[in-house]
Formats: sequence, structure tokens, C-alpha cells
Amino acid sequence: MHYKRLSFFLILYLIVGFAVGQSRKDINIPDISGYKTLKCDFHMHTVFSDGTVWPTVRIKEAWLEGLDAISITDHIEYLQHSKDISADHNRSFEIARPLAMELDVILVKGAEITRDMPPGHLNALFITNANLLVRDDVMDALNEARDQGAFIMWNHPGWKAQQPDTTLWWEKHTELFNNDLMHGIEVYNSRSYFPEALDWANEKGLTMFGNTDVHGPMESTDSHRTMTLVFAKNRSVGGIKEALFSRRTVAYFGNTLIGESKYLEPLFFESLDYDKTLLRLKDKESRTIQIKNNSDIDYELELLQPGVGFEAPEVITLKAHQVTLLQVSGNSDEVNTMKKLDLFYEVKNMKISSKDNLVVTFSFKNN
Ligand code: ZN
Repeated sequence: MHYKRLSFFLILYLIVGFAVGQSRKDINIPDISGYKTLKCDFHMHTVFSDGTVWPTVRIKEAWLEGLDAISITDHIEYLQHSKDISADHNRSFEIARPLAMELDVILVKGAEITRDMPPGHLNALFITNANLLVRDDVMDALNEARDQGAFIMWNHPGWKAQQPDTTLWWEKHTELFNNDLMHGIEVYNSRSYFPEALDWANEKGLTMFGNTDVHGPMESTDSHRTMTLVFAKNRSVGGIKEALFSRRTVAYFGNTLIGESKYLEPLFFESLDYDKTLLRLKDKESRTIQIKNNSDIDYELELLQPGVGFEAPEVITLKAHQVTLLQVSGNSDEVNTMKKLDLFYEVKNMKISSKDNLVVTFSFKNN
């Protein structure tokens, strides 16, 4: 082959190869209860505040990691690179938006209102003009955000730099909450977990979040970033906004999920496939049930109480993307006539409060 032609094909290969060479990771978590399960991260920074990456990088990272939606939430009051970058507060969104549309990553317009404790740092999501949040009084900034229709969340409530000893809820937060100026709270920020925030979310009716608050480039990992699962009526900015105001979220960090049982329970069961036909278990006999877990989550189960008339494993892990065998054995003649067998398991990696885990019941028809 002619050298020129060879180099032409080589160059073509390099261009095309590069363009198709990046593949998107899939996050396998089921849809539930008629809602779409959207994987979202609502807290991150770029060079337009104190981050070190350009806004389009955030979109590319989100796409590669299989996220549905992100919000770039640059600080309003803290511009670390202002000597080099002196743009207005709407620029990071404007720069990121074309690529977001091209890659179908939903981009929620946001900003971080950054104050001493109290009230600390708060993200305003779904705003329309970040420049109008530049106010001396934090109440004016939050009211402006609210006038723009914002959903407001309290970020890293137990951040050691602001609350070194205990994680406190201040008077100021009651004031914000009572004035419709605080709707959500981070139970996870990057790798930090705030159990107090989980209990406040339950008591007061705040939406729970897990976010990265990433400043540098995302580090590649075998796992997934800290994220918020949003159960939306549709995959759109409006769908996410409606879901956040309706508290339909679960925070997802490592192998742990945090949220209300009404979302965790369907997530658990929708992840699994198993035979629901009659067991016909008799005394001194055993039956084996094959449980396939189609999700990315390893479910760690612990038996809560022994069955009546039968035995089941004390501890069992339903590994992600694997089939696990669950064996039940009859141990009295009571089982011969039982209509169904109920197995009560605690799911150790699904938290519903700072102290309690989700409890699930496997019900098998027996006779
Ligand atoms: Zn932040």
C-alpha cells in the first residue's frame, strides 16, 4: 500500500479509535414503583471557584461514570482563582451546558452559598441567575435563591472545619427550615458520613443526599462515586426537581444505601429474581432457592429470628450480579401444613436511621 494512503488510514484509525475508545460505565440499580432511578451528584466545583478542572470535564466525567445528572455548584463567596479567572457566576454552567446536551447528561444549574457556621455551606439548585446570590446577608442570598425556585440543601453539616467536636443543629437552621429556605441535607459528603443528618432528615422531613463535593479531577476507581439516587417521574430537570421536593431519594456510598424504607425495600426486591413457586417443604427435608441479584449492590443479610418449623441461614450475602443459594430445612412437623414460610432478614448495608437497618421479609408459598 502506498505510504500516503497507509498514513491516511492510520490517522483515520487514530481519530475514530480515539473517539469510540472511551466507553461508559453502567450503574445497575433498578427502577422502582413506577419511577426512574436517576444517578446524580449535586455538589462539585470547577476553576470558577476553588476547583482545578474546566466545567466540561465535569460533564465528561459524569458521562463516563454512567451518571444521569449533575449540578456544578461553584462557591459564590470563595473564588480561589479570581486573579486568573474573573468571569461571572453563571459561566461554569454556560460553558458546561453544550456538552451536557450533546452527551445527554442532565445539568442542573446550581451554586454554593458559602458562609461561616451557622448556617455553613448551602447549595441552591435549579437557580436561574447565580449572580443575584451575591448578597451580604445570607438570608437575602437564600431568599433570592428561593425566589428563583431553588431547592436548598445543607452541605456537609458535620464538617470538621466548621463543627470540630459535635454535629449541631443551630437556631439558624430552624429559622431557615421554618422559612422554606432549607429542603435537603447531605448525609454523605465524599467519604464522610453524618449520622445526625440522617436522623434530622427523618425527623424534619428533609431530602437526603450523597454527593462528592469534588474539587480536582475525579479519581478513577473500581467502585462508584458517592451519589444520590433520585426516583423521578421522568428523566429531566423538571422530573428531578419534583422528586427532590417530594423527598424521593436515597444516598449511595460504597456498598451502603441510606434512605426511607419505602424506597430501600423496593430497591432491594427489584434487584432480585427468584422462583416464587410452591416450596412444599416437609419436616427433615431441604429446599434450595436460587436468588439472582441483578444489581451492583452486595446485599448483606442477617436473619432476625429463627423460622418456626424450619431453619434458614443466619448470615448470607447476595452478591452483585451473582446467583446465591438459599437453603431452608424443615425441623419439625409443623412445617408440613404451613401455607407459607416467612424469612425475616436485616439488610446490614441499607440504613433507615443512624441506628436501624432495613428489615425485609422473603415470603415463600409452601403448600
Ligand atoms: Zn462545596
